[in-house]
Amino acid sequence: MRQNSSPRISFDANAGVPATTRALEKFVEIASKFAANPASNNQEGRAAQAVIEKSKLQIAEAFGCAPNELFFTSGATEANNLAIHGLISDLEQQFGKKPILVSSKAEHPSCLAYLRVLQQRGYKLELLALDPHARFDINNYAFNDDCYLIVGQWANNETGAIQDIAACAAIAGDADNIRWHCDAVQGIGKTLFDNDLLVADSFSISGHKFGAPKGCGLLRLKNPSACSPLFFGGGQQDSVRPGTESPALAASLTVALLDAIAAQDDFQKSCLLRKKVLLDALKRHEFSFVVNSPGENCLANTLSISFSDIDGRMILPALDIEKISLSAGSACASGAALASSVLLASNVSEKMAQASIRVSFMESYPDHDVEHELLRLANTISRLYKVANH
Ligand code: PLP
Repeated sequence: MRQNSSPRISFDANAGVPATTRALEKFVEIASKFAANPASNNQEGRAAQAVIEKSKLQIAEAFGCAPNELFFTSGATEANNLAIHGLISDLEQQFGKKPILVSSKAEHPSCLAYLRVLQQRGYKLELLALDPHARFDINNYAFNDDCYLIVGQWANNETGAIQDIAACAAIAGDADNIRWHCDAVQGIGKTLFDNDLLVADSFSISGHKFGAPKGCGLLRLKNPSACSPLFFGGGQQDSVRPGTESPALAASLTVALLDAIAAQDDFQKSCLLRKKVLLDALKRHEFSFVVNSPGENCLANTLSISFSDIDGRMILPALDIEKISLSAGSACASGAALASSVLLASNVSEKMAQASIRVSFMESYPDHDVEHELLRLANTISRLYKVANH
């Protein structure tokens, strides 16, 4: 058998991308030049603090908000938890009762798991149903003069569906009794910044999805003084998110973010070509498949596909042997392929959901002929089909 001597290739960008060279260089530069605690009241501390302030200023300019509305966190899980906690506390103070939590079955566990905990604590949780592409429609919910927190994402991590956040903005924008938190993790740096995000009471981003080192994220709060903190400590970041900040991570996240935004148009174009190559290659084989990603309003880098008559348990291991890394539309626990809850909620059958892949492209593949790798991907699926059906 021919040995595949090329290095492994990852089509798993939505899970995270490696830190870029420029982001890593910035990290090392800042960590060595500005080693003091940014809270220290001395020259070195003030210099370290200035790095954080400059980072916030640059990000604020890119988003069109104020620097003091931005809070560095350890990632989007923390940012999502902080936003949900902070907005709920504010509603409770203002209205003297628990808000109704309106969210969708498409949300990431960093929102949904916390919402489930709140449900156990007595909050009413309403989860909107999904269409076949994992899109929710906030207009399907009848709001009244009760108080509400909407938790609705910008783009879905599995199908790439870009949600109708203009509808969330229209509902939450002027209503005093409705707050909206948007998990913007998958859209940032991949698709044009949507000003509806600035209408949201908060939105979160995660550095490792666009080339910053892992362990940094950001929360934007429209009204920071109304956000009760999750942590208590030394008063850093206006006590909204206390804890010693990392100037190196802040600067590194900023470089990666601005670079991703600058490269976004070209990235989208190359992703659309790659998607076409893969879909054309799959169509040339005898098996049938369904594309779960929407045809429009979809992240250019994301393609979710479910296959008929293929044993879903075999797909990832077979691709792994072929040195192709990607995610299934399923999570593996104790060797059993569990169908993705997002695909199931999108009315994909359990068997098809188990036999699903999510292909998500990174910006560049300097070591690979991507077209060739996509043909290998399609050929591997074809082999699995033949094993199961001949
Ligand atoms: N939200 C979405 C949509 C995600 O895809 C992820 C990560 O996969 C997160 C939140 C969590 O981000 P982090 O890894 O920074 O905690």
